[in-house]
Amino acid sequence: MGTIANIRDILKTLKHKKPAQKFCPRCASPKLHLSSSLDYWLTPQTYICSECGYQGQLYMELEEEKEQEEKKTNNPT
Ligand SMILES: [Zn+2]
Repeated sequence: MGTIANIRDILKTLKHKKPAQKFCPRCASPKLHLSSSLDYWLTPQTYICSECGYQGQLYMELEEEKEQEEKKTNNPT
């Protein structure tokens, strides 16, 4: 009986565990926010950059820790 509750708990923590910061694909600004259009149920999620005015469904995700690890392995000095 408690299995479903456990799975839901795990899913919750997984979601909370990934605070992936979204960046503008055009100017790499972190000032990217979701469009709060009332037509959100008609169109897919649109991100708007308040820095350069970019509007679109694409965004960049950066994970600092991962990037640093990759840099280490890619530098065979
Ligand atoms: Zn931008």
